Amino acid sequence: MTPPILPGAEIGILGGGQLGRMFTFAAARLGYRVAVLSPDDETPAGQVACREVRAPYEDLDAVERFARSVAVVTFEFENVPRETADAATRHAPVRPAGSVLGTTQDRLREKAALARLGLPLARYAAIESEADLGRAQAAVPGLSVLKTASWGYDGKGQVRLETAADLADAWRALGRPRAVLETFVPFRQEVSVVGARGLDGSIALYAPFANRHAHHVLDVSVWPATVAPSTRAAALEIARVVLEGLDVVGVLCVEMFELLDGSLVVNELAPRPHNSGHLTIDAHVCGQFEQQVRAVCGLPLGSVESVAPAAAMANLLGDLWERGTPDWAAALASPATRLHLYGKEAARPGRKMGHLTTLDRDVARAEARVREVRTALATGGAAWART
Ligand code: AMP
Repeated sequence: MTPPILPGAEIGILGGGQLGRMFTFAAARLGYRVAVLSPDDETPAGQVACREVRAPYEDLDAVERFARSVAVVTFEFENVPRETADAATRHAPVRPAGSVLGTTQDRLREKAALARLGLPLARYAAIESEADLGRAQAAVPGLSVLKTASWGYDGKGQVRLETAADLADAWRALGRPRAVLETFVPFRQEVSVVGARGLDGSIALYAPFANRHAHHVLDVSVWPATVAPSTRAAALEIARVVLEGLDVVGVLCVEMFELLDGSLVVNELAPRPHNSGHLTIDAHVCGQFEQQVRAVCGLPLGSVESVAPAAAMANLLGDLWERGTPDWAAALASPATRLHLYGKEAARPGRKMGHLTTLDRDVARAEARVREVRTALATGGAAWART
C-alpha cells in the first residue's frame, strides 16, 4: 500500500488562481506546505503559499524541477497541458493523474468517456473537420449548441444555433475548431455534484448543488438543490460512476442539467474543486478543498455532513467594483454570512474576485440573504438588517 503523505510535507500545485488559494488554506490548516507553479507571480495562490515558482507550463525543465521538490503534485487549472502533467509524473505522484486531465480538457474525449460509462448525455455529434458538418447537421437537426472541444469555459467558445442550417457558418466563424454539436436541452435547473475519491478507492459525495448562471458565468449556488429523492440519488450515482470510471484520485465536479421530468443529463466535468462547491468550506464538516488535500495525500476522506440545514453562495465579480470599492463592512456585519476574497488587484468585469456564503435554515432564505448581502456590498445599504 502506498504510504500517505503526512502533514509537514510540501504539496505542489499547478495553477495559481483562487482554487489554488483555497486549496492552500486547507492544506496549511492541516500542517502542509504548499508550492505553486504558474506563469504569473503574486497570484491568488502564490500570495498565501510558502513558495511561488513562476514558469510557463510548457517549460518542462522547470516543471520537472518543481515536481522533484515536492511530495505530490495536483492542479487547480485543468487546462494545464497534458505534457506538463506527464513531466511532473516522472518525479512525483500527480493526482488526479494526467489521464484525467487528458480526458476532461477536451469535450470530445470527455463525451466519449461519459458515453462509454453509459451515462446520459444530450444528443451530440463530433466535428473534427469540414467533412463532419453534414453528418452533424443530420444527427442534431434542431435548436443546438456548438461548443469548441478545448479551452471552452464560462460559455466561451460556444454558439447557440436556431437550426442546423446555421452550422457551417458558425463553425467557420469559430475558426474551424474540433467541436461538439449538441442538442439544446430544455432544463428545469442546473445541478452539480462534487465528489472526492481517495487513493484507496473510497468516495465522499456532497448532496447536489443547484446553480444559477448570469451571462454564462456561475452567479449563485445553493445547497441542497431542490430535487426529488430519485433525482438526488441518480445525481450521486452519476458522480460515483465518473469518479470510479476515470480512476480519479482527488476531487471532481459533474455538472448536469435536470430535465423537466426530473431526469438528468451530464453537461461537463471539472477534475478539481468547483465554484459550486465553494459553500462547502463554510457549510460542511470537511470542505471540498480539504477533501482534495486528503485525497491527493492518500489520507482518509472527510465528512460531507453539513453544519447547517442550507447554504447559498454568491460570486463577487469585478463588475461589483464599478462604483468603487465594495462596502465590505456591510457584508461582514451580516450574521451567518462569510466573505472570501481572492487577493486579485484588477477588478475587471466578469472576473471572479471573491464570493459570499450564507448559512440558513432553508435554501430559499439562504439564497435571498446572500443576494441581499451582495446588493448591500454595492450600495452600502444594510438590506439584510430588516429581516
Ligand atoms: P458549458 O460551458 O458546457 O458548461 O455551457 C455553459 C452554459 O450554457 C451551461 O451552463 C448552460 O446554461 C448552457 N448550455 C450548455 N449546453 C447546453 C445545452 N445542450 N442545452 C441547453 N443549455 C446549454
